[in-house]
Amino acid sequence: MIELRGKCVSDSILSDAKKKSGELRKKGIIPKIALVRVGEDSSDVAYEKSIIKIMDKTDIDVKQVVLDKNISKEDFKKEIIALNDDDSVNGILVFRPLPKQLDEKEIRRYISPKKDIDCFSEINMGRIFLSDEEVFYPCTPMGVMKIIEYYDIDLEGKNVVIVGRSLVVGKPLSMMLMDKNATVTVCHSRTKDLPSVCKKADIVIAAIGRGKMIDSSYIKKGSIVMDVGINFMDGKMVGDVDYDDVKDLCSMITPVPGGVGIVTTSCLAYNLLKMM
Ligand code: NAP
Repeated sequence: MIELRGKCVSDSILSDAKKKSGELRKKGIIPKIALVRVGEDSSDVAYEKSIIKIMDKTDIDVKQVVLDKNISKEDFKKEIIALNDDDSVNGILVFRPLPKQLDEKEIRRYISPKKDIDCFSEINMGRIFLSDEEVFYPCTPMGVMKIIEYYDIDLEGKNVVIVGRSLVVGKPLSMMLMDKNATVTVCHSRTKDLPSVCKKADIVIAAIGRGKMIDSSYIKKGSIVMDVGINFMDGKMVGDVDYDDVKDLCSMITPVPGGVGIVTTSCLAYNLLKMM
């Protein structure tokens, strides 16, 4: 069994990013990302810290925008529009989910697609469905695709089952895999007999948010398992896949931690520099 570790994938993305940001700086262009956090949610704060570390490694400046958790829709809109108009900011990342009073659907409409480096806007999401490569792919599905590319996993005609149909992971990932000629099945909480659907897959991708749900009863011998999940059980980070239960069945598997998650954050740096 081969463990698909994310660190080497991430290192390769970051080394290219550092080179590119160095070249831009030599021309007097300073790449800068704005991180917009509403409130003090601990997972947002942890994600923010990891992004700052990655940006530091790649010589990308960070503008932290921390807003009160009770901020009104109108004031939030003003903050985003100010960042859209700020020429020193090249990319904007809004931590989600947002508090209820801020309507995510509406915000998708006014974040500038040119700075929307995590594919939050309707325009960028639409471009994915149009197979337009002039897009900022959302960082989590992109992390999965970068691992597939790095380890030279053949997708041509392969049966890929994605468990999870969220806008952040499952839906865009299904389009990205289809563009690489995979045959894609997207499952969700209403899918009937999920284990037997997954058992037909050459590649199973879990993006569910249920710790260790995918066990050996879902996995065909020799298949590839990619685990996007980040969950905490007994204080320990675990994926959506029961790693110990499936490891002897599959041919390749991404660990949690150390798999997809570590690549996701590097993809932000990649996206920020992509159109510069
Ligand atoms: P989400 O929005 O909650 O979506 C979860 C999806 O899983 C939904 O489509 C849901 O189905 C489906 N689901 C839930 N329970 C199920 C069940 N028992 N059987 C089959 N399908 C089920 O979650 P998300 O934002 O996509 O995140 C998914 C996981 O990825 C989480 O663990 C999250 O922490 C992790 N994540 C990781 C990264 C990273 O960087 N590695 C980034 C983002 C998210 P319905 O649509 O029918 O409700």
